[in-house]
Amino acid sequence: MKFPSDDALNEASETVEIFGQKGVSRRDFMKFCTGMAAILALPATFIPKIAEAVSGQKPYVVWLEFQDCAGDSESMLRASKPTIASIVLDVISLEYHETIMAPSGKNAEKSLMDVVNNQKGKYIAIVEGAIPLKDGGVYCCIGGRSAIDIAKEVCGNAAFTINVGSCSSWGGIASAKPNPTGAVGVGEAVPGITYVNLPGCPMNVENVTATIVHYLTFGTLPSVDEKHRPYFAHGKTVHDNCERRAHYDAGQFVRQWGDEGHRQGWCLYEMGCKGPVAHFNCPSIRWNGATSWPVQGGHGCIACAADHNWDEAYPFYSRLPNVPGFGIESTADKIGAGLAAATAAGLVLHGVGRAISSKKEE
Ligand code: SF4
Repeated sequence: MKFPSDDALNEASETVEIFGQKGVSRRDFMKFCTGMAAILALPATFIPKIAEAVSGQKPYVVWLEFQDCAGDSESMLRASKPTIASIVLDVISLEYHETIMAPSGKNAEKSLMDVVNNQKGKYIAIVEGAIPLKDGGVYCCIGGRSAIDIAKEVCGNAAFTINVGSCSSWGGIASAKPNPTGAVGVGEAVPGITYVNLPGCPMNVENVTATIVHYLTFGTLPSVDEKHRPYFAHGKTVHDNCERRAHYDAGQFVRQWGDEGHRQGWCLYEMGCKGPVAHFNCPSIRWNGATSWPVQGGHGCIACAADHNWDEAYPFYSRLPNVPGFGIESTADKIGAGLAAATAAGLVLHGVGRAISSKKEE
């Protein structure tokens, strides 16, 4: 079978061969480059450039973990198309990651400082977890140093920082009220650094890879919004791309877990779905090898990538007070009722029409 991007990749045949020697099939490599172009909303003509970029440079990367649950590390390790082992670790040089690195103790800290001292201004810092500022930052210490102290040095000397997950983006669950440790995101804790936020609980590894691929391909970070989120990943709402959207537009809502509407895959707005106010490309890239995502699984979106969702999107099972796009006063009930009335009127007219036709036929 010939893929539309085949011709583009033929231009990068040398690169394909390099990855072939590493056990990555041509098909997988093609899928990777095509997928990255799609996520970044680039035309197919950029595929050879992406292929060349990911096979050439190999930037040093250090991955820091502060107030976290390691969910973003898990998300990264679960990358399946391609696997992190086959592509990502061939594209980057991961020098420090507490959860997966072999060295421990002083040797591990030496690995980190070697990069900071020898690759100043050239390496990428990836941060997972919030940074506590209260009481001098004593609530998160690694190797005898506070998280804020480490972040200032490591992020301050990096080419740029990628904050993965909602905790490093803006504090996440660690900063939920009453925020006992004074947890904040990296951007707030270390002002002045160059950074990108990839929120989500957890972040999606496809977006991290795409951010790095963009940097390798163009030498710049992708364009971001006022919250430092790349537009390619957070430019649209979940609601914009949701597969249940047609049911929302038709006023077909699940009213109770397990009811007929739920079985039919209707809209989860009434069950508390926060998709209309959540900006994330979850519905298009999905999870677990792109097999599914929460709304497809039958649960409403909890706006995990939204700023301070634990306080502001809560309670998760109460519906949003209004429906964007239908006026501030509109509610699902009103829309549903309006559509139902219109449909009923249509059916009545249809019925009248049929009755007239039958009469004529008689
Ligand atoms: Fe999808 Fe939720 Fe929007 Fe309904 S309200 S269309 S389930 S995102």
